[in-house]
Amino acid sequence: MLELVNQYAVVRLTADLSRLTPAERKMIPFLIKAAGRMDDMFRHQAGDAGVRYRIADKPDIPDPGARRYHEINYGPWDRLRDNEPFLPVPPKPLGANFYPPDLTREEFEAYVEAHPDEAGGLKSDYTMIRRLHGKKLVAIPYHVYFEDPLRAAAETLREAARLAEDAGLKHYLELRAEAFLTDQYRESDLAWLDMKQNRLEVVIGPIETYEDRLFGYKTAFEAYVLVKDVEWSRRLEKYADLLPDLQRRLPVPDEYKKESPGTDSDLNAYDVIYYAGDCNAGVKTIAINLPNDEVVQLEKGTRRLQLKNAMRAKFDRILMPIVGVLIASDQQKHVTFEAFFGNTMFHEVAHGLGIKNTIDGRGAVRQALRDEASALEEGKADILGLYMVEKLFADGVFTEGDILDHYVTFLAGIFRSVRFGASSAHGRANMLRFNFFKRYGAFRRDGANGRYRVVPEKMASAVAALSRKILVLQGDGDYAGVKDLVTEMGSVGPELQRDLDRLAAASIPVDIVFEQGLEVLGLK
Ligand code: ZN
Repeated sequence: MLELVNQYAVVRLTADLSRLTPAERKMIPFLIKAAGRMDDMFRHQAGDAGVRYRIADKPDIPDPGARRYHEINYGPWDRLRDNEPFLPVPPKPLGANFYPPDLTREEFEAYVEAHPDEAGGLKSDYTMIRRLHGKKLVAIPYHVYFEDPLRAAAETLREAARLAEDAGLKHYLELRAEAFLTDQYRESDLAWLDMKQNRLEVVIGPIETYEDRLFGYKTAFEAYVLVKDVEWSRRLEKYADLLPDLQRRLPVPDEYKKESPGTDSDLNAYDVIYYAGDCNAGVKTIAINLPNDEVVQLEKGTRRLQLKNAMRAKFDRILMPIVGVLIASDQQKHVTFEAFFGNTMFHEVAHGLGIKNTIDGRGAVRQALRDEASALEEGKADILGLYMVEKLFADGVFTEGDILDHYVTFLAGIFRSVRFGASSAHGRANMLRFNFFKRYGAFRRDGANGRYRVVPEKMASAVAALSRKILVLQGDGDYAGVKDLVTEMGSVGPELQRDLDRLAAASIPVDIVFEQGLEVLGLK
């Protein structure tokens, strides 16, 4: 079991707290305590409701490696291997513990159809579904199902709010505490978007829906406690203004770029001091784009948070060792943290570019492309992010480093992300890109030493071609076309697999896991 555990490099999660005020430092223990409640609730949500193995009860596992791996995965299923069990337990239900474990999509949909007045509750982002007396489905609101931990978390956030000097942060904490008791999160989301000046930050609550693989309806509890990096944030400020111009210059016919991108997004850099729940399970998030509520997004846009210390840890502990094995030695110097940070940042910004509705008026691209939508959208953001970087260099806006840094770092990043596997949207998007670049000759593999090099003069045309391909598939809502592309280019060939095996043989970790908390921060 230890070799599974060792896929994760251990990273101490620290930040410079010296710029926080004494009151802000006093708030941290309260925020971490509230985050701990999210951890408990997520562990329950991710688990199996079956009687044979009640994960929520923190089972006693004798093997220390298995116990540790169970902690990392928040359960007995391996998040790096499409949730395969690593302990003798039944397969993970698609709906995790959000639904009864035996519930099928068909049964749920038939039930909703027969009980239209209950549809709202059943499909709600904030309910757990259970069977009552063995058959009927009932929706239990989070604030009822999780009443005790949510009351406790609300009280802890209020205590933090009492210490807050920043009016925006105080207001948000109070509204968030209230939301825990009502499941009405919109007002607190709006207040979160209004926070501008505070250095101490918390993202907390039921947020993402990836854990619900049955329908993607149910939100999972998580928390990040963060400290804003003011200096790096200033570097990011200027890019949001450039979006409309970049949208106009996308390499597609006009009908595919007539929507206007969101320009009011706010982009900042942070160091994370605590991860809990969903975001701490398996592969760790390094950039956040929230809130997810579309009503709030339309009214006020979103905030994008770049998690700098977590990125740095992945860069040092994973990307650089990969570079040492797989990148041509003369190009290794072009792999830089600045380029890695930039590529990740522009990935987030690029989600705002392109097309959200099909050009024939059928509706949302997301609906048209169904189960392929998120992998393609991630692929779009990656490639358009790099496309943006090219334009910013060409226009002289970008002056640090050079485009080759971004290209080589991008190529190395593909090897890192392909390892997340075909079950992850990011993993699949990277396989596709690797094969596409290969076809365009954007990189070459030296057969003698198995190292890869970017071919700069071919790279730009490959980036433009892939951008065009994805934007047109999205704009046409061409589900069959996406399936064809994935069949043709979405898998790892034998040569790449052998190269990935070299990374595993060199014991290069796949992701990171944190040592975190008050002691690590020197606050205890
Ligand atoms: Zn993304």
